[in-house]
Amino acid sequence: MILKDEAIALRLHPYANTSRIVVWLSRTHGKLATLAKGSQRDRSPFLGQADLFYTCEILFYARETRHLHILKDCAPRDIRPAFRADWKACAAASYAAGLLDRAMPFGPAPAGLYELLAATLEQLAVRTPGPAFIPRFELRVLHELGLAPRWDVCSRCRADLNGAAPARLDAAHGALQCESCAAGRGRPVSPAGRQAIRGMLSGQLPPSLPERVFREVRDLMGGLLEHHADLDGRSREVAFRILAAG
Ligand SMILES: [Zn+2]
Repeated sequence: MILKDEAIALRLHPYANTSRIVVWLSRTHGKLATLAKGSQRDRSPFLGQADLFYTCEILFYARETRHLHILKDCAPRDIRPAFRADWKACAAASYAAGLLDRAMPFGPAPAGLYELLAATLEQLAVRTPGPAFIPRFELRVLHELGLAPRWDVCSRCRADLNGAAPARLDAAHGALQCESCAAGRGRPVSPAGRQAIRGMLSGQLPPSLPERVFREVRDLMGGLLEHHADLDGRSREVAFRILAAG
């Protein structure tokens, strides 16, 4: 069966001598891998047609019993040249694509993830990101994957947690609880931390967070990712260091 989709390249690696495997996040078929046969030969029509962070229109022969499909045609729609010049934006885009690649299995994906990645790459291409980009993107990915709690209400007794009441995060269960339901279990989440997270989700984040709140949100997202996705702590550290550099 030949299928057509719009897709963003998350990862590329060589295959045999002259071919390449491209892992994509696609608009309608989720995460998939395609083999571009002979793509590295001099006169291949694939040459230069797919690269990291490109949005492409792809035509592929879907093999139902395998995760690796055969790429038939690939036409770049947006090659995002800004990433060749802005190394911080490129580092942020690499981290974002790598996180999606690790956190998602092959196959259908929640529709919001493709939109999230496309919008994120668009923003990165026009504005150099700072370190707050990382926990914000992670938070939105966790929400799209259904792995993050609600930040405004206790998951057990439904007590309102919008105000100053203390609360704790049970990262293993992805649940936020009021102090009495948590009974001392989990990591405390300050009212300022919850407010910042709600701001990140609604898009109404103040331009900069106090250092203490930034650290809290960073550690909360790290804790959730550690339990629910395959967190690559080292590449996360490197990404933070690059985005914080002067
Ligand atoms: Zn409660």
